[in-house]
Amino acid sequence: MITSALIAFLAVNTYYHQQLKGQNDEKNMTIAKSIASFIESDEKLDLKNYLETQSAVGYKLYVVNEQRKATMYGEAFRVENLSDKVIDQVLSGEVYHGMGNLPSETFVTGFFSNELANTVGVPFESNGETYALFLRPDIKMLFTEVHYILGGMVLIMAIISLLAMLVVAKMLIDPITELTAATKKVGEEQFSGTLDINRRDEIGQLAKSFQLMTIKLSENDRIRKEFISDVSHDFQSPLLNIKGYAELLLDDNLTEVSRKNYTTVIQSETERLSSLTKQLLLLTSLDQLASPLEKKTFDLDMQLKETVRKFRWLLEEKEMTLEMDIEDVRFTGDPAFLDKVWENLLSNALKYTANGGEIEVVLTEEPGHVKVLVKDHGIGMDEEELGRIFDRFYRADNSRTQETGGTGLGLSIAQQVVKLHGGTIDVISQKGEGTTFIVVLPKL
Ligand code: ATP
Ligand code: MG
Repeated sequence: MITSALIAFLAVNTYYHQQLKGQNDEKNMTIAKSIASFIESDEKLDLKNYLETQSAVGYKLYVVNEQRKATMYGEAFRVENLSDKVIDQVLSGEVYHGMGNLPSETFVTGFFSNELANTVGVPFESNGETYALFLRPDIKMLFTEVHYILGGMVLIMAIISLLAMLVVAKMLIDPITELTAATKKVGEEQFSGTLDINRRDEIGQLAKSFQLMTIKLSENDRIRKEFISDVSHDFQSPLLNIKGYAELLLDDNLTEVSRKNYTTVIQSETERLSSLTKQLLLLTSLDQLASPLEKKTFDLDMQLKETVRKFRWLLEEKEMTLEMDIEDVRFTGDPAFLDKVWENLLSNALKYTANGGEIEVVLTEEPGHVKVLVKDHGIGMDEEELGRIFDRFYRADNSRTQETGGTGLGLSIAQQVVKLHGGTIDVISQKGEGTTFIVVLPKL
């Protein structure tokens, strides 16, 4: 406010010196001339009395006679800095433009400058004698009320704007304080609190983004905790089995057949633990890096055929038939990760189809992308199961009762890999009818 007051003062002062000074001089010159001509027109005029009356209506008059004797009418000037030369000039008939010619000074408002030089001067004659009349308005007398009114206005404006500023500042700071407290809470992993900020401005937007971030963080926190509990659970049951059967093996009176059976169980549980660890490592490597893919251009058809070949023995064991319709396709992607996708889709199709069933594997190249389809006529899934198969550790109940090994991580790994390749994985399934997985990968 102080700065703006200073700038305003300088601007107004400059305006006075550039524009108003000359006009003010003209105005006062006209008044001085009319006073002079009135005095000259009336020979019987009581000069002293008349000049006193003029000063009473708001003018300062300085009258000098031929003997250089000066008489002041009205309030005295702050400084009487009029040179004798000027007085002589006016007495000899010239006029004096002191107001118009007042030198410009930055920090003095010329309009208010109460000095004798800041006047207009005219000569007049009375009773045969020549006089010089210098005049300027008595600012103090004329404008006292105006000063109070303007000054009061400025003061009230300053007080009101100061109060308004305090209110606005408080309105700005309150939500920021609230946000800071909320940030601290989130830092301490407390995601429960809600922000009470309903604004449409930038702070409102910030609060909204913060709220969304908190929701996301709390969701992640939940997933993380769930994941840990799932992992622990999945490790726990094979470990318990191994422990139990190992204790049984300690029995000296055990038959050879039982011993073999127990050892087999221990062996398969160990394998399960090992594959679980591998899957988890794979998932972590997929999660952690922005792009863990090491892309290469390779024959996708060869890779699919190779995967099918790996499952030949299982197909024969289950007396299943597999139909292949595979085009020659070259594709750029991470072959090691993609291999995990085909492996899991095929192993699922085999696992969740009864003996003697039929599986179809199709690879086609379409403009811009390649499509892999794995179709079985197995147990299928209902809506509820379908919605969860990509969740980590999810295994439908019937797949557990099928006594097939598995961790429930296969499809979430597959989905992650496909996503990293910019593709999609879709599933169509009907309980008791069969399941079709469709993977679409964009070509670069
Ligand atoms: P993993 O692949 O880790 O060894 P998994 O096969 O049980 O174990 P996912 O491949 O992630 O795990 O599959 C999750 C669940 O989805 C399966 O347990 C099964 O219930 C269901 N599922 C997956 N594929 C099929 C399918 N072709 N037919 C019927 N159900 C399926
Ligand atoms: Mg699987």
